[in-house]
Amino acid sequence: MGNIKYIIAVYFVIVIVTMILLYSLGYFKNISYIFLPNGRPNGSPIHGSYIVTAYFHDPRYFKIFHHQHEGIDLVPKNASNTFLYSTINGIGYNNYDVCGGNSVIIKNLNYIIYLGHIKVSYIHSGDEIHYGEKVAQIGETGMFGVCVTGVHVHYQIYKNEDNNWVIVNPYPYML
Ligand SMILES: [Zn+2]
Repeated sequence: MGNIKYIIAVYFVIVIVTMILLYSLGYFKNISYIFLPNGRPNGSPIHGSYIVTAYFHDPRYFKIFHHQHEGIDLVPKNASNTFLYSTINGIGYNNYDVCGGNSVIIKNLNYIIYLGHIKVSYIHSGDEIHYGEKVAQIGETGMFGVCVTGVHVHYQIYKNEDNNWVIVNPYPYML
């Protein structure tokens, strides 16, 4: 019987040492977000009160700009409240496009969030980003008059549906 206890003890020591070795080699880096429920976005990238200036597929927006609004536009009520926080766990990327200007993108297995028109990014591409982490300062970068008419964040969400990234209405995720 003593032998069995010895074998079990050695087995556990081998498992633990292997785990520590894999961890030190970086095998478990970026894995934490996988354990969150579906990586679903939750809340607003603005902490504190905000005004919605354009909703998802807002007809008023379409009338002015002649293209569909694929996200939600948020303006902080308090002028000093200018930071943006991640609404998911995932990997962060810095991005630029003509319309959205400078943006931060955070991606996990099931969702991507996009924060457009930012002034400053506080992340590096490839960083592991945690829910609630400060990632950017709000701004008005992007094609002025066509895509942006003032300081706000364009918050857009993509959902992985059978390996197709589908743009969804962010509003239900903010409630
Ligand atoms: Zn927008």
